[in-house]
Amino acid sequence: MNYLELVASELSRIHEANTFKYETPLESAQAGVVKVKGKPVVMLGSNNYLGMSNHPEVRTAAIEGIKKYGYGVASVRFICGTQTIHLELEKKISRFVGAEDTVLFSSCFAANEGFFASLVNEGLGVENHKDAVYADRLNHASIIDGMRLCRPETADKKIYNHGDASHLAQLLEEDKDKNYRLRIIATDGVFSMEGDLAPLDKLVEIAQRYGAIIFVDDSHAIGIVGKRGRGTPERFGVLGKVDVISGTLGKAIGGAAGGYVSGKKELISYLRQKSRPYTFSNSLPPAIVTACIAALDLLTKDKTIVRRLHTNTAYFRKEIKSLGYKILEGEHPIVPIMLGETTLAQDMSAAMLKAGVYIKGLWFPVVPKGEARLRAQVSAALTKKDIDRALDAFESVGKKMKVI
Ligand SMILES: *Cc1c(COP(=O)(O)O)cnc(C)c1O
Repeated sequence: MNYLELVASELSRIHEANTFKYETPLESAQAGVVKVKGKPVVMLGSNNYLGMSNHPEVRTAAIEGIKKYGYGVASVRFICGTQTIHLELEKKISRFVGAEDTVLFSSCFAANEGFFASLVNEGLGVENHKDAVYADRLNHASIIDGMRLCRPETADKKIYNHGDASHLAQLLEEDKDKNYRLRIIATDGVFSMEGDLAPLDKLVEIAQRYGAIIFVDDSHAIGIVGKRGRGTPERFGVLGKVDVISGTLGKAIGGAAGGYVSGKKELISYLRQKSRPYTFSNSLPPAIVTACIAALDLLTKDKTIVRRLHTNTAYFRKEIKSLGYKILEGEHPIVPIMLGETTLAQDMSAAMLKAGVYIKGLWFPVVPKGEARLRAQVSAALTKKDIDRALDAFESVGKKMKVI
């Protein structure tokens, strides 16, 4: 068979299923207002939650990083790819998320792929071991892929209903007398389709009750959730009680690239030896490392940044509702605006761009049938004027399309 015919037929199926992902090129830096087709557009679709992507101090730190430490390190960490700044960033992340130690990865995707298999597949002196991994039904693709790398003979994989602590407790109770070596609970801290938070206080309590390890991917929470932006553990009062935290540096913390795993120092030390995406893949470039250090410093020093994100979020959530839109209630800057039909979400996304607002939609099969939506993501980079401009567009487009 001709491979090009095969992929082309899949492409037409993707088009027919309405899941083709179109790219809209920006002609500017990522910011509160970006340029698209020569026009300024309010950005409501990025993970640039804190406006760090184009923050002057972060940009300067990246430039200084290149000047002092060069463009690349041309090595993995243990050969000659560890610069003092890599260690400094790891220390800063540990302090920020309330963990003993941290290991950097090239992305959070790599971090999640690196964590599960390196622990679950290895006997570590235990013969014929078997571990159990309990995962939320809506976990991110990188956790799912991380679990896929665990060999079936070493891992039983169990899915609990989304956000459902009592279902999780029930599964652990059923397995109480089984001879598992490790029990691992794995969840996103914040789920990106709905903008809802994992009930972390309950999950930590359950983990302790059943002697399980709890792993939280806080990618949509670091710098975002909690009074000081320290993530879901801060928000639920369990800082220091989550065994393993992973996250990205490609969202609120600068938005460039990089990921990490934080936890007890023995675990982190072990991952440096055994985690394959760490051991066999290049170190993070110096510019990214120095920029992330600057972003974390800014976040610690200037408490108004996170506060502005939270104020903007509360304002947007309140005003979009008072226009008559139905949203998923919550507290996170991810605000799903529920529309129902796929074509409506597609048409409205296009009309909003014409009206000067960048916002993308989600529809079946990414979300259930009849629950098509636009997903707004609020940012500290937006001024009140930007948000009001977006709300004006929501009002006129919504009325014209008879949504409100
Ligand atoms: C964005 C995201 C990732 C991927 O992070 P990268 O650093 O871009 O690989 C992983 N997990 C979750 C929950 C995310 O939201």
